[in-house]
Amino acid sequence: MAQERKPKSYGLVVRSIMGRYPLNCILSWEEDRVEKTLRDVASSLPNQNFRFITWSVTTGMIEDGAVISDVIDPLAVLDAIIQIQDPAFFLLKDFHPYLKERHDVVRKLRDVYFAFRNKPRFVFLLSPILVLPVEMKKEIEVIDFELPSFDELLGLFESIVRAFEKRGGTVALDEASYRSFILALQGLTISEATHALTKLLSGKKILEPSMADVLHEEKRQITLKEGILEYVPHVVSMDDIGGLDVIKDWLVRRSDALGEEAAAYGLAAPKGVLVMGVTGCGKSLCVKAIANLWNLPLFRLDMNNLYAGMAGVPEEVFQRALKIMDSVAPAILWIDEIESGISDKTGEGAASRILGYFLTWMQEHSSKVFVAATANRIDLLPAEVLRRGRFDQIFFIDLPIPEEREQIFRVHLRRATQIEAMSKFHLSQLSKATKAWSGAEIEQAVLSAMFDAFSERRPVAVDDLYRSISRTVPLATTMAEQIKKLRSWAHDRAVRASSAPAMPE
Ligand code: ATP
Repeated sequence: MAQERKPKSYGLVVRSIMGRYPLNCILSWEEDRVEKTLRDVASSLPNQNFRFITWSVTTGMIEDGAVISDVIDPLAVLDAIIQIQDPAFFLLKDFHPYLKERHDVVRKLRDVYFAFRNKPRFVFLLSPILVLPVEMKKEIEVIDFELPSFDELLGLFESIVRAFEKRGGTVALDEASYRSFILALQGLTISEATHALTKLLSGKKILEPSMADVLHEEKRQITLKEGILEYVPHVVSMDDIGGLDVIKDWLVRRSDALGEEAAAYGLAAPKGVLVMGVTGCGKSLCVKAIANLWNLPLFRLDMNNLYAGMAGVPEEVFQRALKIMDSVAPAILWIDEIESGISDKTGEGAASRILGYFLTWMQEHSSKVFVAATANRIDLLPAEVLRRGRFDQIFFIDLPIPEEREQIFRVHLRRATQIEAMSKFHLSQLSKATKAWSGAEIEQAVLSAMFDAFSERRPVAVDDLYRSISRTVPLATTMAEQIKKLRSWAHDRAVRASSAPAMPE
């Protein structure tokens, strides 16, 4: 089963060498993997014996395991590099802060560029984020290292499995379950995947298909630990949504749109949907239901968490999140409250850089990642996001109309195992009593009625519902002006998620 296919990132490095770029910026969190790839490339190049020199602020310059210079200052490092006349690869780790802070370093790097042009000497600046001084944009080639590919993870998995067998372990996997293990590892770095597999096999005698579930859980934990993406389990189905026929139909028609068959048919994979609307009317519900309907993993990116900075510098975290998504594709990325992330509230330009990165990614990513973004304050979103071609569709979810409220009551009353018979008539009366209520408010009314009935250990009755309805003041009463604004904004910019007419009752 082992395949000796070179990873995509290897090809990118070779291409840059062939293109004779003296200065390269490699984007990656995986120093070991990058170094190994560069060494592979250096040793495979014909007719030259390349020296391989690494530098970091803590180690100085190292070649063949020995320190050849203990220079720490970035300017001195570049000076030392310029002096070396042999064919060489220079790998400089975490050099990016100096490109932000030191103009002299940027200037010296340009000198390196001119000195190395058309010479077999190549500098690789390795960092997890892209920092390119404007004056150097033309001279630096950017190499975006993907997270490990399917084949790389397969190679890793096979070598760990072989070692397991050597220790006397039994491998009871068929071809399909091999695949499910690799899918479970996608999105992890090589070292994360190695740790996860080692932990999985420690103390075990047999490797079975069901153990892939443990890896899924491990991945969930790792993404949680990183605090970037939250894996959302499939708990909501289309049947849990009352009303909203238009958006449901749109999603059902695209059920297999990310699959091979759709691609063979000539269909471009849909990029995403933006769902905006009145709070509590089912935006999140719709996104959760897509994952179930399309049978794809759903990851939630919370923009507010991103800016809280718990997981690191927001721009880096955002770039990493999109990279993880690329590598777990096909998958759905839920960007919750997108407006709070990309409208410039920080005043420091971070949000506009994140926006720029997001738009470029939306335009250019070839991975099958479907973005489902939700927004309450659509007026805060920059026009570029809403421009045609970014999202496949923008939906507006309004307050439910009477028939939809009946359906929402039905959905939530399904939970009660003990309930007095309720006719169509009762439901339509309940719907009349909840004029301008949101789905969330109806759900709360049903829950509160169930608590009342349960406290007296009896089935839920219509009167319980009326009582709880009378205790509630719906949001629409206090937010009438805001909802009116939202409707008028959406009128000619978004498609109504429901075929019901937009008529105030
Ligand atoms: P917010 O803007 O506050 O995040 P939202 O529009 O995302 O709100 P949801 O989280 O989808 O709203 O819905 C809130 C709750 O209301 C959910 O628990 C859901 O069960 C219920 N609900 C809302 N709309 C509907 C609906 N159309 N059918 C069934 N339940 C609904």
